[in-house]
Amino acid sequence: MTRCLKVDPEHPEPAVMAEAAAVIRGGGLVAFPTETVYGLGANALDAQAVASIFRAKERPFYDPLIVHLADATQLSSVVAEVPDVARELVVEFWPGPLTLVLPRGPQVPDEVTAGGNTVAVRVPAHAVARALIAAAGVPIAAPSANRFGRVSPTCADHVMADLSGRIDLVLDGGATQVGVESTVLSLCSDIPTILRPGGIARESLERLLGSVDFRDSLGTEGETLVSPGTTVKHYAPRAKTTLYRGEREAVLARIRRDVLDYVTAGVTVGVLVAEEDLAMLTDLPAVYRSVGSITSMEQIARQLFASLRSLDASGVTVILARDFGPSGLGLAIRDRLTRAAAGDVIVVMETSG
Ligand code: AMP
Ligand code: MG
Repeated sequence: MTRCLKVDPEHPEPAVMAEAAAVIRGGGLVAFPTETVYGLGANALDAQAVASIFRAKERPFYDPLIVHLADATQLSSVVAEVPDVARELVVEFWPGPLTLVLPRGPQVPDEVTAGGNTVAVRVPAHAVARALIAAAGVPIAAPSANRFGRVSPTCADHVMADLSGRIDLVLDGGATQVGVESTVLSLCSDIPTILRPGGIARESLERLLGSVDFRDSLGTEGETLVSPGTTVKHYAPRAKTTLYRGEREAVLARIRRDVLDYVTAGVTVGVLVAEEDLAMLTDLPAVYRSVGSITSMEQIARQLFASLRSLDASGVTVILARDFGPSGLGLAIRDRLTRAAAGDVIVVMETSG
């Protein structure tokens, strides 16, 4: 049985945290809120406990986990060395949605790193996450608290929908703030390289580091330094998803045309767009979800996964989603939607009549 305990997201009750920490120390699994998405945590130094994360999620063992720390002073317990550039990043971005890939320390079990010689670490900016790690007294390995390949959870209900009966405890601290996962930055290559775009924008990293390498998740496999486990089909709803990229008017015109085609063929359609786009579409019979206003990428990121889950729950067969450009959080949103679509991306070149 999976227990679910409410917890104050800003001032977590010490009694609740003590209970959750005891589960972690006993080798159990606790799902907890971070500022990005909900994580599924286990004692990162306990190989057995870490292995049970993979079983609960049905996650393949080649996909390494992020180790979460209560603060940067814990770094030395999991990494072999901290390069100067890492120190600067830590000062600027921790606590926060930036994961650093660093040389692995000897205490970290193979289960965490997928046998590799690097380890991914971050300090989350969420009071519940940090209180849990501090109370447990050990670093906590935590991937997103969803079944492997599916959409990451941004509230406790999402966690329960995927993992109820498979884990010990869920700490329900409400909806998460950032809504997409952390940016994974490797400091083990010559040039710092973004392995997964996320909650810290590439532009913010470049302000500090100068140039940062990043290659698109599409079509560059083999030549790209990719994050293990970030396969093209990932973060995927059940409905077959298509992503539309290009200039806004042209994209909306193309979505309109495709909705009509699907409806004519008797297919139920879900449409994921911005609030401002709805007026151009809603006369057609489809299920519409606004992810927020185009004036706030933060809002769109925050609502993205819940919108995908809600379209799935509505029973649609296909989902048509628009892109939000590559700048700021747009890059992470594009990455997640590209993977939700398993690479089925239509680049709309011009308004088609
Ligand atoms: P999740 O916590 O479910 O968002 O997944 C964590 C992701 O972090 C993995 O899928 C990897 O892509 C990435 N990651 C974790 N550890 C490493 C590592 N040592 N090297 C490169 N990427 C990593
Ligand atoms: Mg995940």
